[in-house]
Amino acid sequence: MWIKGLKSYLYTIKNEAPYPIVDLEFIKIKAIELEAENLKFQDFLRNLDSLSLDKKVFELFEAISPKIECTDCGNCCKSLIVNIDETEANNLSAYLGQSRATFDEKYLDKGESGRMVVNAIPCHFLVGNSCSVYEHRFAGCKEFPAFHVPDFNKRLFTTYMHYDRCPIIFNVLETLKIDLAWQSDSE
Ligand code: SF4
Ligand code: SF4
Repeated sequence: MWIKGLKSYLYTIKNEAPYPIVDLEFIKIKAIELEAENLKFQDFLRNLDSLSLDKKVFELFEAISPKIECTDCGNCCKSLIVNIDETEANNLSAYLGQSRATFDEKYLDKGESGRMVVNAIPCHFLVGNSCSVYEHRFAGCKEFPAFHVPDFNKRLFTTYMHYDRCPIIFNVLETLKIDLAWQSDSE
């Protein structure tokens, strides 16, 4: 199924791809090609009403994310640093039946800010493309890609940091351009 407009958009960028687009190599290439355009789009988004934009972005997320199988991808778990707090470390170590000392030594490190992070990329708990501790995964894992979080247009830098790695983010943001009838030469 195509979301209205995306097919013609893809034709205009001279690439035809099934929708939603989940090919990570294609997405990486597009991210480079569309870098300047995306900076202009972010400038446009910054000036929109936050509440209306949050609603639109969340609607797109709800429409698009069920069409993308995270277990076919796993790219966030393969490529991101995961922050953990004390409660999360306590919960997961208890679930795994390990003392905190053992758990910390095996899985944790201190990040630059002094925060605890998982000490491996890809994450230790990724098996294939699936999380082996899904019910006990960390808050940051549950939140990603954060399209349900208010004030989307104040988090554009962070969201676009992941544009080239996450098919959900790529498809939501490209569909958003179409739904807002945004043209790169209109700014
Ligand atoms: S804990 Fe699970 S969801 Fe979170 S990064 Fe690791 S594998 Fe992914
Ligand atoms: S959230 Fe994005 S990067 Fe992570 S597994 Fe799902 S589609 Fe892939």
